[in-house]
Amino acid sequence: MLESYAAGSWFRAKAEGEPLLDATTGEVVARLSSDGLDLRAMVEHARHVGGPAIRALTFHQRALLLKELARHLSADKDFLYELSFRTGATRRDSTVDIDGGFGTMFSYASKGVRELPNDTVVLDGGLERLGREGTFLGQHLHTSRPGVAVQINAFNFPVWGMLEKLAPAFLAGLPSIVKPASQTAYLTEAVVRRIVESGILPEGSLQLLSGSPRGLLDELNEQDSVAFTGSAHTASILRNHPNVQHGGVRLGVEADSLNCSILGPDVTVDHPEFDLFVKGVVTEMTVKAGQKCTAIRRAIVPEPIADAVVDAIIARLAEITVGNPADESVRMGPLASLGQRQDVRRAIESLRNAADVVFGDRPADLIDADAERGAFLSPVLLRAWPGAAEPHDIEPFGPVSTVLTYRTASEAIELAARGKGSLVGSLVTNDPGVARRIVLGTAPWHGRILVLNRDDAAESTGHGSPLPMLVHGGPGRAGGGEELGGIRSVLHHMQRTAVQASPDMLTAITGRWTTGSKRFVDEVHPFRKSLEGLRIGDTVVSATRQVTLADIDHFAEFTGDTFYAHTDPEAAAANPLFGGIVAHGYLVVSLAAGLFVEPRPGPVLANFGVDHLRFLTPVKAGDVIAVKLTVKEITPRANADYGEVRWDAVVTNQDDAPVATYDVLTLVARTYS
Ligand code: NDP
Repeated sequence: MLESYAAGSWFRAKAEGEPLLDATTGEVVARLSSDGLDLRAMVEHARHVGGPAIRALTFHQRALLLKELARHLSADKDFLYELSFRTGATRRDSTVDIDGGFGTMFSYASKGVRELPNDTVVLDGGLERLGREGTFLGQHLHTSRPGVAVQINAFNFPVWGMLEKLAPAFLAGLPSIVKPASQTAYLTEAVVRRIVESGILPEGSLQLLSGSPRGLLDELNEQDSVAFTGSAHTASILRNHPNVQHGGVRLGVEADSLNCSILGPDVTVDHPEFDLFVKGVVTEMTVKAGQKCTAIRRAIVPEPIADAVVDAIIARLAEITVGNPADESVRMGPLASLGQRQDVRRAIESLRNAADVVFGDRPADLIDADAERGAFLSPVLLRAWPGAAEPHDIEPFGPVSTVLTYRTASEAIELAARGKGSLVGSLVTNDPGVARRIVLGTAPWHGRILVLNRDDAAESTGHGSPLPMLVHGGPGRAGGGEELGGIRSVLHHMQRTAVQASPDMLTAITGRWTTGSKRFVDEVHPFRKSLEGLRIGDTVVSATRQVTLADIDHFAEFTGDTFYAHTDPEAAAANPLFGGIVAHGYLVVSLAAGLFVEPRPGPVLANFGVDHLRFLTPVKAGDVIAVKLTVKEITPRANADYGEVRWDAVVTNQDDAPVATYDVLTLVARTYS
């Protein structure tokens, strides 16, 4: 009997439970029931134990836990691969699910450290000045919700499906309750068991609901969210739940998607793009036996070469070996269950009202497998009749694809759009004009578009692979949700609030120095203070320096930057912006560094860049500049004895007008004596 991990302990239902069958042999792998499970207690545990524990950590601390967990899980995964065979997955299929899931966690761990602050609040965009004097400002920021992230997953990716949702939710400060699809829940349970046993995540961060989620949504409120992957039918049940309709529960949906791949009108049978297209279609039909939400269901090809495309796909499909996924010579295993196969067969029957089956009319020859007990199905290729509607409406969730033809690029775009919104589309072309036309034409119906040609093919991750750094989700029929996409998916889980306040208040609230708030100047130069000794607002107010024509000439000669505005008085005078010789912007910045620096060896280790550099007022010979450098943000780096300090730099002239503004980025030792 599979167990649930609920409110800090493992729960085993007393009921006999529903049997879960091996996709290949039909043997019972496990039984499943959540009878007697206290869902309210799970939600309460997440809210009162898991959530506060995660939110006590900064984004960096959360990211480091994810990294530790990903390492821990990667170290011992053979047992997961063994178990995964029972879902019907070949070893290659399992790599996408298991290693793909761990890779996603690694990616979120590193993005969390690099792209989020070492804090519990994320700023969104810059300051908005709301009053003339600069005493009233606006700043958007993201905070963690004190809620629960419920994840209802599909059967096809029992590991990746959980981890790709868990990682961003955890980074965002939310505890997760994971409900895997029944059919493959034993694989998810095995991973959750490893996670819980590791003790790496704070208690309550992750709970597992093995069995029916009936009643779970009744427990949720406006701070909670549900991320759902599965059928449009279940999605509509969830959308109609009173707590979603009226109670403010946020629902993200990733449902049926009739993804297409378009072969560009420029491609002929001799082009490398022809083979790339054919290979892509066959890969997407057969990986995971086509049970991928991103698989190519519609192959849209130019009419003149449609016969050649169909023949080439058939030739490749004929080489696909079907059978026991544990046999290394097998390319495609069974579907996840006999029920799933029945659904796919039904969908093929409906498609036959509008298309001819051109491959797969006969059962496949099976390797080391029993056709009666295992959910095997040959790959099936159909060719649509002109004007067919069904291929745009029916999603056979298996190794099935339909070829459709077009005459013009506009028609190809129209056909793609008839899918009513997809997770992913691909275009195989070597013509940049075609690429622009079709990508811009089809993008409103897609969450992701792959443009494949001879140049990117070797490195391409393929049509069907969602990547942690790119958005996964699609409009319309695909559910309208958005997952992954790097830090975007973390922010989706958080609340964005516009805060209006004075500069000092904003500095206090955000932990980041805000223009206009207090500066602290004392007798110790900030470059002599260690990371631990620095405080937000510490400032150097420099001496002044006059910029001379000799300085400008010298800089021009020394660097080779003899642009006329710095060297040719007549030409510079004709420049409508300058009206005469001006100092190089980089000279101003260099002189500013000379003004604010404290040159002796000390805790400042390096300057690793500047951000947001803007030259605002031209500096002419004779102008007198000064600089104010203020500690804006202090970010200790985990596992390092130094951290990052962001300094606000403002260079002004004799009229106190800003001539340059920028952020200076330095590395500073944690301690210094
Ligand atoms: P379902 O929608 O039936 O199931 C998806 C998840 O929802 C499962 O965890 C399921 O649990 C759960 N669920 C089912 N009913 C409810 C409910 N009333 N309230 C809350 N949760 C519920 O989809 P399947 O996984 O069975 O797949 C069916 C079809 O969905 C496929 O044939 C395909 O068309 C589509 N699909 C789309 C995917 C995508 O990413 N776009 C991915 C996978 C499937 P349980 O398993 O216990 O019923």
